[in-house]
Amino acid sequence: MDCIFCRIVRGEADTEILLRTEHLVVFRDHRPQAPIHLLIVPVKHIRSINDIEPADTPILGEMFQAARDMAARLGVAQDGYRLFVNVERGGGQVVFHLHMHLMAGWKR
Ligand code: 5GP
Ligand code: ZN
Repeated sequence: MDCIFCRIVRGEADTEILLRTEHLVVFRDHRPQAPIHLLIVPVKHIRSINDIEPADTPILGEMFQAARDMAARLGVAQDGYRLFVNVERGGGQVVFHLHMHLMAGWKR
């Protein structure tokens, strides 16, 4: 299976990893749609939220914790940020390896 996010997780793509834990990685979106645009990606290949199994649910909590930690690290926690997950084509998903977007940094 040729999955770009699996390749990034394995370190095979030229992508700077901002945070790596046992279960997830965080890197910048290569086509940012906000001044700060990160992707929070489980190590495990899960197609979309539709495919989450009971044993996978801890990773969802870890993804939110990673978002919180990265927002603090990048100095946008107090100002605020957006977290969202696109689900399947109708929801705007184009990479079919589960990921959460973190967007921030707009001028107020
Ligand atoms: P989706 O629409 O599936 O929720 O979002 C996928 C996101 O992944 C898009 O915002 C797209 O720009 C980003 N993306 C796709 N391929 C790559 C890649 O190879 N590297 C990085 N850093 N981001 C990617
Ligand atoms: Zn994958």
